[in-house]
Amino acid sequence: MEYNTEEINEIAEQLVKLVGKSLKQREKAGQPTIADFEKEFRDALRQIGVSALGLYLSGLQTTPESEIRCSCGGRLQYKRMRDAKSISVFGPISYKRAYYAGCICQKGKAPLDEHYGLKPGAVGSGLAQLMALAGIGFSFEESEKWLAEFLLFDISENSIRSETEGLGLIQDKADEKAIEVSQDEKVLQQRLREVSDVPTRLYGSIDAAKVRIEPRAKDGEPVLEDDEWRDMKVGCWYQTEPVSKIQQSKRQREKAQRDGTVFRTKAHQYFCDICPADEFGKLLWTRGCKVRADFATELVFVCDGAIWIWDLVTHYYPNAKQIVDWYHAEEHLEKLADAVFTAQSDRQDWFNSLTEMLWQGQVEDVVLACQKLETQHPHVQPTSTYFANNAERMRYDVFRAQGYLIGSGTIESGCKQIVTQRLKRSGAQWTVDGAIQTAKARAAWLSGDWSTLCKQRALLPLVI
Ligand SMILES: [Zn+2]
Repeated sequence: MEYNTEEINEIAEQLVKLVGKSLKQREKAGQPTIADFEKEFRDALRQIGVSALGLYLSGLQTTPESEIRCSCGGRLQYKRMRDAKSISVFGPISYKRAYYAGCICQKGKAPLDEHYGLKPGAVGSGLAQLMALAGIGFSFEESEKWLAEFLLFDISENSIRSETEGLGLIQDKADEKAIEVSQDEKVLQQRLREVSDVPTRLYGSIDAAKVRIEPRAKDGEPVLEDDEWRDMKVGCWYQTEPVSKIQQSKRQREKAQRDGTVFRTKAHQYFCDICPADEFGKLLWTRGCKVRADFATELVFVCDGAIWIWDLVTHYYPNAKQIVDWYHAEEHLEKLADAVFTAQSDRQDWFNSLTEMLWQGQVEDVVLACQKLETQHPHVQPTSTYFANNAERMRYDVFRAQGYLIGSGTIESGCKQIVTQRLKRSGAQWTVDGAIQTAKARAAWLSGDWSTLCKQRALLPLVI
């Protein structure tokens, strides 16, 4: 919104008068810099915000009616104009609004609060968004310092944790609800009739990363049990687009020479949970419905090869193309080579020739070559079985010719962004619920669903 310049200038002149006095004082303590000026003005604007928002909210209160309907069906009588406080992006504000009580259900009500999504005594939804945004990016302790720099007033670490996890809880509940809906036959039938927006080539990937859950002390008593590691399962739906020659990085240019077209991934939709595989399967299906995976002309899964992952893919999307991540397959060859060869040159020769075989999709030859080594070195993990079991998921020559991605970098990056960069930050201490909620809020941010999630928080029913 562009405001009238003259009116803005008028207010600015008053602001200069107000802040000027304080800056004069400061000059005595030493030469102020532009950063000092900026901070003073920001702080003054913030305080004006506190006052203006309170005044504005109080001004929204119309003449109270003597009696209104209660949500229980009874009647509420006007009692008085009552003070309320809320914490805004400017800091704690206070305002006055009409308060009603006296219903048989014994609940009171301030219609103004309900109308504008204000929760007396609590953080307003505007500030809650910023707190949670800090909370999904930094440890809660760091968030406190980070927000103080930006907002110029203090918010406690605990409030940041509670807003971040609160937002994640809303996502968790939304997931639960969506799972329920996506299993409803009627809804699924309805979807069949709406076949617009069908993705042509859609990718799916699933992976998991460990999260450390620390037993919490209860009633000040130290807890002696060991930390527990739990799997955060992460999934992603995404699409690809070719990277034009001009935009290619040096690495991508090299890749283009070898592979032809270079693709980048887009439209990432991440989802995650700490739960058994079959529960995660329901979430995979539900999020799949959202991106219309079941209607996709081509559906491709690129994953690391864990059995529980392929079981889910086969169960929910039996017609999807299954590809084992190239780098994981290559790593199996590398490990076998390391375990068997003592001479570096032998190791390298064997590895190079096997990698080339694999690149050409000659999986049967790879299996034979591995078996040969394993007979001589029975202590070695049966790599041949891994390749034999996954042969059809390793036709890399065919996949490359069809322009499929053969690397699961997208989901690995997803695990890194959701789990490593946030849940494994130093100072992080998680309960299972806290880890799930923070991860879900972070996944919503990474998927471009942040504003939708924040809107849901603002619309939550209010309790007085
Ligand atoms: Zn009532």
